[in-house]
Amino acid sequence: MRPRALSFFRGIITAAVDVLFPSHCVSCGAAVFYSAHLLCAHCRGSIEPVRDCCPRCSGILTGDGCTLCGNRRFYPSRHITAAEYEGPLEKALHALKFSGRRRLHRPLVGMLHAALGETAAGVEMVTSVPMNRDKKWERGFNQSELMARRLAQRLGMPYIALLAENPRSATQRKLHSRDRYLNVLGRYRAINSTAAFGKRVLLVDDVLTTGATINECARMLFSGGASDVIALTVARAGIKKLENL
Ligand SMILES: [Zn+2]
Ligand SMILES: [Zn+2]
Repeated sequence: MRPRALSFFRGIITAAVDVLFPSHCVSCGAAVFYSAHLLCAHCRGSIEPVRDCCPRCSGILTGDGCTLCGNRRFYPSRHITAAEYEGPLEKALHALKFSGRRRLHRPLVGMLHAALGETAAGVEMVTSVPMNRDKKWERGFNQSELMARRLAQRLGMPYIALLAENPRSATQRKLHSRDRYLNVLGRYRAINSTAAFGKRVLLVDDVLTTGATINECARMLFSGGASDVIALTVARAGIKKLENL
């Protein structure tokens, strides 16, 4: 089919979907077109970017330095996060993870892409924090993988699964920061190491809390032979929000 004819039919289909199946913003409930992917322009505009953070890991800075990478071994050479885990972004991530609203990954990938900016030039492949088979089956998808795959497409880079989560891993929920760093040790393993060997890898996850998960994943990527790991998350949550993740 010719490109003009194709775009004509696409327009008809989009209009039919908007007429027959009206969508609503998951944050404020306003009616939105299908193309808005469940998040209205007003709510998108009110998402707060992370400010005054550690230039290396995007952690919270105090008078004593960075609360995240300040006094521990932090494996990623850099961690970038797009925004604070609050308001419309919190609602969008919650709806994506727990209500199966997959379409929401699209605006979130737009945020990841913008936050990554020119740092993209320093990476060669994209991967994501994995989810074990049982959990993925229960949820239907791994939201971090969904976002990482689409981001890789946008960047024109390969997405490669380089990590696997061991079965029956204990949950991180409701644990304090130090316990999370201990609990996560041995939770993941490197796979497809040949593909990662000597490569600069972009590791994608949804939410940064204590940094324990991305730190352990980065450690395993290095053990699998990666030459550099840059981590990228959609949102940074305070420890108080852990119960909802
Ligand atoms: Zn809204
Ligand atoms: Zn830091």
